[in-house]
Amino acid sequence: ERDRLARLRHRPAVSLDGQRVQLLANIELPSDAAAAVEAGAEGVGLFRSEFLFMNRGGRLPDEQEQYEAYRDVVIALRGLPVTIRTIDIGADKPLDRMSLSELRHEHSLNPAMGLRAIRWSLADPGMFMVQLRAILRAAQHGSVRLLVPMISHPGEIRAALDMIERARESLRRDGIAFGDVAVGAMIEVPAAALMLPIFLKHFDFISIGTNDLIQYTLAIDRADESVAHLYDPWHPAVLGLVASTIQATRAAGKEVCICGEMAGDAEFTEMLLAVGLRSFSMHPSQLPAIKQRILRTEIAALEPQAALALVGDDPRAIWAAGRVRALAAI
Ligand code: PEP
Ligand code: MG
Repeated sequence: ERDRLARLRHRPAVSLDGQRVQLLANIELPSDAAAAVEAGAEGVGLFRSEFLFMNRGGRLPDEQEQYEAYRDVVIALRGLPVTIRTIDIGADKPLDRMSLSELRHEHSLNPAMGLRAIRWSLADPGMFMVQLRAILRAAQHGSVRLLVPMISHPGEIRAALDMIERARESLRRDGIAFGDVAVGAMIEVPAAALMLPIFLKHFDFISIGTNDLIQYTLAIDRADESVAHLYDPWHPAVLGLVASTIQATRAAGKEVCICGEMAGDAEFTEMLLAVGLRSFSMHPSQLPAIKQRILRTEIAALEPQAALALVGDDPRAIWAAGRVRALAAI
């Protein structure tokens, strides 16, 4: 079994019908980079940078500390791409710091709809600038992609891109070396999925955060046990938004990845392949099982079944039945 897994690690993820699929890792701290490499990840698809800021008794990492943390991951990945997400603080990831922002957060009745992620960063431009400078500096050591979470308004696209440009200018002014980064956005809110053409105009790549996309599409708090049974990734509205985002991004010639839990759940692998997804980012421990699935999938045979499931009122049942028929026909 160990040997089999070791062989699997170095084997590229190619479907039975020859489609190459990229498998990436989600990490939370620089120390997770080793596990990502060990699992055979082809890069980091989501570095949840907010974990550098949490549980530190109020003292936040400065530019040098952040730079070193990002740089360590970039070096550990030896040239493979590292996607660093700017902080997604707020809601389920509180920051233990007393500040105006936090006071506002604590008094918010609905933290998931309150000041979090890019909203937080834009409300605290000093803190955001420090992070952007640190990420740009780390980019000189390898391949870095900068990812912005939770954008829901076109004004936030302009404001975030403007801050990134200002971070480059300030580094130039200070004579500090930095590298090139591709800039991407997460699609986590229905509004974002519904205005995808605007994102495609401004960003280099797209990453779908299904955890939040499900929460906000279905109005189900992802942390509330009492409605957990209604949190349904198979919901036709969710699958519709995921599929249309994948297809429209590919049609625009840009890269699209899923970095939410759906990407690491083998129940969805074939379906996601069939709607066109070729890049998955997940916890390193989920990588071998997802790779196995891909190696055994004939994607083309499943494409018509996926199209049917997407327009039905019970996608899960339609998919299950259609999949059996498609496999019997091979
Ligand atoms: C997501 O929402 O799917 C996602 C990957 O971000 P997080 O789980 O960190 O909110
Ligand atoms: Mg999210």
